[in-house]
Amino acid sequence: MSVLARTDLAFQRCIDPACAATYSVDEVLTACPVCGNLLDVAYDWDRLRPPGSFEVFERKWLQRGDPLAVSGVWRFHELLPFAPRETLVTVGEGQTLLSVSDPVGAFVGLRPGRLHLQYEGLNPSGSFKDNGMAAAFSHARLIGARRAACASTGNTSASLALYCAVTRLMRGIIFIGSGKISYGKLSQALDYGALTIQIAGDFDDAMARVKEVAGKLGIYLVNSVNPFRLEGQKTIMFRVLESLGWDVPEWIVVPGGNLGNSSAFGKAFAELRALGLIDRVPRLAVINAAGANTLHELYERRGLRWLGGRADLAPACHYYDELDRDRRRADTIASAIEINRPVNLNKCLRALETCDGVVRQVSEQEILDAKAQVGAGGFGCEPASAASVAGARQLVAEGVIGRDERVVCILTGHQLKDPTATVAYHTTDQKLFNDTLGSRGVSRASFANRAVSVGNRIDEIVQAIDLYG
Ligand SMILES: *Cc1c(COP(=O)(O)O)cnc(C)c1O
Ligand SMILES: [Zn+2]
Repeated sequence: MSVLARTDLAFQRCIDPACAATYSVDEVLTACPVCGNLLDVAYDWDRLRPPGSFEVFERKWLQRGDPLAVSGVWRFHELLPFAPRETLVTVGEGQTLLSVSDPVGAFVGLRPGRLHLQYEGLNPSGSFKDNGMAAAFSHARLIGARRAACASTGNTSASLALYCAVTRLMRGIIFIGSGKISYGKLSQALDYGALTIQIAGDFDDAMARVKEVAGKLGIYLVNSVNPFRLEGQKTIMFRVLESLGWDVPEWIVVPGGNLGNSSAFGKAFAELRALGLIDRVPRLAVINAAGANTLHELYERRGLRWLGGRADLAPACHYYDELDRDRRRADTIASAIEINRPVNLNKCLRALETCDGVVRQVSEQEILDAKAQVGAGGFGCEPASAASVAGARQLVAEGVIGRDERVVCILTGHQLKDPTATVAYHTTDQKLFNDTLGSRGVSRASFANRAVSVGNRIDEIVQAIDLYG
């Protein structure tokens, strides 16, 4: 393995400032071979000369005939220029919306006009993962990979399978844990034809195995340890800023699982600031589910900080040892964030430093109530996504977020990803409620919209409509 510093325009670089080893973009790595830390994609901005203003990106709206100008990822190619135009892969990702929602804003405790929902469920496979997959596939094409794999709680595999099916660039292999994947997501992977390997274990086990297998067989790994994937996810923030007329909001609130999104967002803002495109960064709130709260425990309770890269990460190792010793497994209805060993922990700590961040944890009850409110506002999302709204609500109640501040909550995945959770919340079937939600400590469905049962008779139907309509 060559560890020569490269002078290419784009390269990979270890995130540990004391190591800072660099590697060419045509090497396939998921960790620094010297020190084991994570890698960034880095750029020689002086020689690349990116645009000095945002106007360039707005002008691309006029080029609707060019798929790369239409892509919500590649419209910003100049801000993630690791591959030439000819190798870029798009299936039309990133056509997402930033919308003000006053009903959800009122639930969160914000004044009208302040709460924005970034609806990433509108992506081709129904989650934000497509932003990262477009970038990872472009890199895979650059280096000529033939097979790609991931471990997944569902959405990464759905996205990988879709990109494989549409582009025919690679054979997709997905690793899932037993029992935890929602049918909405599993059905996508199966339908799109990916090789699906179900291992006896949870997500953290699947992640460990896929890393080993990918290394052994030389299969391209598309989990968020892949630094190119995070480049694609930076564009979620570019689109948020674009929708706000390039005005930086006060807060970005995002659910935290493997911490790829939060890491990518921090990098996006650090780069925009370094390039002089923005003059301040928003604050970042990362929201864990209480049943998978490693980041919250380490950051808020044990005081773990990035400290410019000089952090002593021993507390993380101790914590993982405790989890093993007590046989504690991640457990939450928000399956997309049911992760106890977030692979991007170090990068997320860096992002929290960049954006003066906070971390909160929310209960199953809070997640489901927030999800129902998001739905009632007309934006269906899956449970993990609603953690952002539940977390924002908590932060407003604490006074950390002011009622007048502009807050952007990321709705990471579509409602139809996990209909079981939705139906169990609204059901009149007490057994279904108890089995699915009651067993998780959810005691009530405060915002349930229950079906009304009537006989197969006109008078009963008319009476029900008169009563409830
Ligand atoms: C992957 C995923 C998350 C977690 O994102 P990370 O980048 O791993 O923190 C949250 N919500 C949904 C819907 C996801 O698919
Ligand atoms: Zn290193």
